[in-house]
Amino acid sequence: MAKTNTLVMKFGGTSVGSLEGLAQVVKIVRQATRDWRQVVVVSSAFSKVTDALFESAQQAAQGNQVPFAQTLAMLTKRHHQALQHFAPTDKAQVLEELDVLIQNFQNLVQAIGVLGEGTPRALDAVVGLGECLAVRVIAAILSSQGIPAQAVDATQLIVSDNQFQASVPLMRPTQETANQVLVPLFKQGLVPVVTGFIAATAEGIPTTLGRGGSDYSAAILGVVLDADEIWIWTDVDGVMTADPRLAKDARTIPELSYREVSELAYFGARVLHPKTIRPVVEAGKILKVLNTFNPSHPGTIITDDLSEIDLRNENGQQGGIIKAVTAVRGVQLITVEGRGMLGVPGVAARIFSAVATTGATVPFITEASSEQSLCFAVPADMSDAVLTVLEKSLAHEIENRNIDRVWVSEEVVIVTAVCPQMRYRWGVAGKIFTALAESKVNVLAIAHGSSEVSISLVVNVSDLETTIQALHQLTINGQALAG
Ligand code: ADP
Ligand code: ASP
Ligand code: MG
Repeated sequence: MAKTNTLVMKFGGTSVGSLEGLAQVVKIVRQATRDWRQVVVVSSAFSKVTDALFESAQQAAQGNQVPFAQTLAMLTKRHHQALQHFAPTDKAQVLEELDVLIQNFQNLVQAIGVLGEGTPRALDAVVGLGECLAVRVIAAILSSQGIPAQAVDATQLIVSDNQFQASVPLMRPTQETANQVLVPLFKQGLVPVVTGFIAATAEGIPTTLGRGGSDYSAAILGVVLDADEIWIWTDVDGVMTADPRLAKDARTIPELSYREVSELAYFGARVLHPKTIRPVVEAGKILKVLNTFNPSHPGTIITDDLSEIDLRNENGQQGGIIKAVTAVRGVQLITVEGRGMLGVPGVAARIFSAVATTGATVPFITEASSEQSLCFAVPADMSDAVLTVLEKSLAHEIENRNIDRVWVSEEVVIVTAVCPQMRYRWGVAGKIFTALAESKVNVLAIAHGSSEVSISLVVNVSDLETTIQALHQLTINGQALAG
């Protein structure tokens, strides 16, 4: 039974980026306001807007103003068109607010152009404008359709640290400000329409939570408002057995545990931002992933971990041995190898401390003690920087020949199979590798997380689709292991 009778719903870029999507949003919010006492809407920017804002600022820093001019025209056209279509009366104030934001965009990009540099702080100020534009249009549309709504910039709600482009929310102050701003709106019977993606430091400097971060915004608000449920509305029928763009026969997974969905999100299932899960798990909230364009579909529900007993008893015949398969693209493997490596104390700590100074994330690590090598993945655009710091920090060992070489692979893909039954059934890994061998996929590296929920493999980019399809077969009924 609902405790606070509060629902937080987040709509993604494709959900709000077309007239068809916006019409669905109106229907969905109308229904939610009937079923729930308090509804908060969190919105992404219209589809492709964030990319265009980034491109404009980055190109302007290099002296190219063409993307900026195109974006300026696009922003005005798309937001005005949506307003025109749904909110024929009382538009003057919203149009004025959109003008101010667009003027702000112009000023910021011009400043970046003059300086010849877009610092992370300046970029955050630019790229967050897409959400600010979207919420004003959506609130006006909802109000004009008989659902009184108020646009709210999350810079007033979510207090973050100052790690621009990947800021971290400070939950205590956020709880205070979010309640201060939103509770009076609930009391006036208004639906707050809050910007996803953005936050501000305690001093009021705008930050962003990282690309795809609107899911995270919804989770943060859901937790600080003690909402009963958080619903993520997107353009597919929930979390699926694979990215439907890569596996045509991908199916919805009706129920997932926090741990399973964390692995999926962390290893590339863009449908949910990986940071979304943590606040939700800690607060034990129910999270659903639903399709804006097919709202009667039950989508995916994500709750507490399935109990061990459930897992043990789960009838393998009902699902395959793999629950889902995901891919992380755009990574390269870095290998540090040398016969003397084992004798050098703290070498792994030194390697990863050096990598950390570049800010590169490391989604995959594996070590072969017989070969005396350590191998890990980094985002491809960081590999040069990582190699440089490693060569510097290991210079002494390289000179002494304790380390023979540090090298970077071609671009590769990490494919992860989420298989929660692995702990209780023998032969799961065997089936996976047999399927890959039958499809003639060459596996470059393997990592099996200690959580025993997933197994990750590194393959060549050219093998991506074959790998996904081979593993996806193992999600299908009848492929289960006996015993
Ligand atoms: P939104 O704009 O709603 O945030 P995203 O584009 O960020 O939407 O995420 C939705 C997309 O995630 C889907 O269109 C789909 O292509 C992709 N995706 C990747 N892996 C999965 C998966 N396992 N299940 C569902 N969708 C997935
Ligand atoms: N608009 C932001 C992005 O494209 C945030 C989001 O959509 O979640 O990254
Ligand atoms: Mg997204």
